Amino acid sequence: MSQKIIVTGGAGYIGSHTCVALIEAGFEVVVFDNLSNSTTASLDGVARITGTRPEFINVDCADIAALRAAFAAHRDAVGVIHFAAYKAVGESVEKPLLYYRNNLGGLINVLDLMREFDVPNIVFSSSATVYGVPDTLPVTEETPLQPATSPYGATKVMGENIIRDAVRAYPQLRATLLRYFNPIGAHPSAEIGELPNGVPNNLMPYITQTAAGIRECLNIFGDDYDTPDGFCVRDYIDINDLARAHVAALRHMLNGADGVGTFNLGTGRGASVMELVNAFRTATGVDVPYKIAARRAGDVPAIWANADLAARVLNWHATVPLGETLASAWRWQKQVSGIK
Ligand code: NAD
Ligand code: UDP
Repeated sequence: MSQKIIVTGGAGYIGSHTCVALIEAGFEVVVFDNLSNSTTASLDGVARITGTRPEFINVDCADIAALRAAFAAHRDAVGVIHFAAYKAVGESVEKPLLYYRNNLGGLINVLDLMREFDVPNIVFSSSATVYGVPDTLPVTEETPLQPATSPYGATKVMGENIIRDAVRAYPQLRATLLRYFNPIGAHPSAEIGELPNGVPNNLMPYITQTAAGIRECLNIFGDDYDTPDGFCVRDYIDINDLARAHVAALRHMLNGADGVGTFNLGTGRGASVMELVNAFRTATGVDVPYKIAARRAGDVPAIWANADLAARVLNWHATVPLGETLASAWRWQKQVSGIK
């Protein structure tokens, strides 16, 4: 019999791709999502890709009574992947309490119910944001964390600490903290992908929406950073590679790894904003009009991952070439926008 995994936030961008990876790896998937930033169309996409539609429960993780009922129906699950969270950095500055309640309240409820129903393993979506502006590059998991610069970032630092304390106090729990760098791209089938609400904050959807003519011009935030070409540098990781890391993390725990594991998920290579724009043109043949704009407050000049630990311990590493990832992002945008 296949092992059951609860995926909170499973209708979202990373969650839906992870559903595909889990189903392809032979797991049974149950999605808990309140659809606050997604629709069940993503699960239809998962079904078209895999032939299996994950069971879906519309539930708010911050509502303990409703979440308890969902857990009670799936007490045979062997693990939880906890994606459910709000993720807009700017909005978190405007509405900090909303972010703390949703992201931390939801996490605490999940941990409590895992204890109550003896579900032992959790994978948590953390972020490279926990490193702030790092002193040395690339960052390893040992690189000291910096104070968060937004309530969103704070929920990731605090989320990690809450999980570490919970596992220390309740040894029946095990956890894997995955620090994502910059996930981009879509499933190669273009059945699922990223669907930002309104004007995208993130670079990749802004590029594809500009290429599709939805936005006039990409604003590149700053060209005078102390980096090789003056543009900010990030570690852009293919969404399908990222999704597969969750399967590797679960397997590692199911094979008996105790305690808390913390892993960077990146490619190990940095790319500047301009390099990404140029690579997009090479991969798709589409030119993205841009102009240089002022620096964006709070941006980290450069960060990329040392992902050796995930390679060594989880036997996971990024495999998809950047050009393929960018082509998948464009294929998805064309599908969404009805462009031939
Ligand atoms: P997303 O918004 O596409 O997915 C999050 C999902 O969680 C959505 O389907 C939303 O409806 C759901 N959700 C939110 N609050 C909920 C609640 N209280 N109860 C039930 N469902 C709820 O975001 P994503 O990009 O897929 O991100 C997934 C996770 O990864 C988040 O925790 C995010 O903070 C983290 N993360 C994302 C990135 C990134 O660049 N996308 C980087 C680092 C970390
Ligand atoms: N960026 C940009 N224009 C945009 C959006 C982002 O120049 O419209 C830059 C941003 O300054 C950063 C990089 O692209 O250097 C990645 O930004 P994103 O918001 O995608 O990720 P994060 O800053 O969270 O790493």
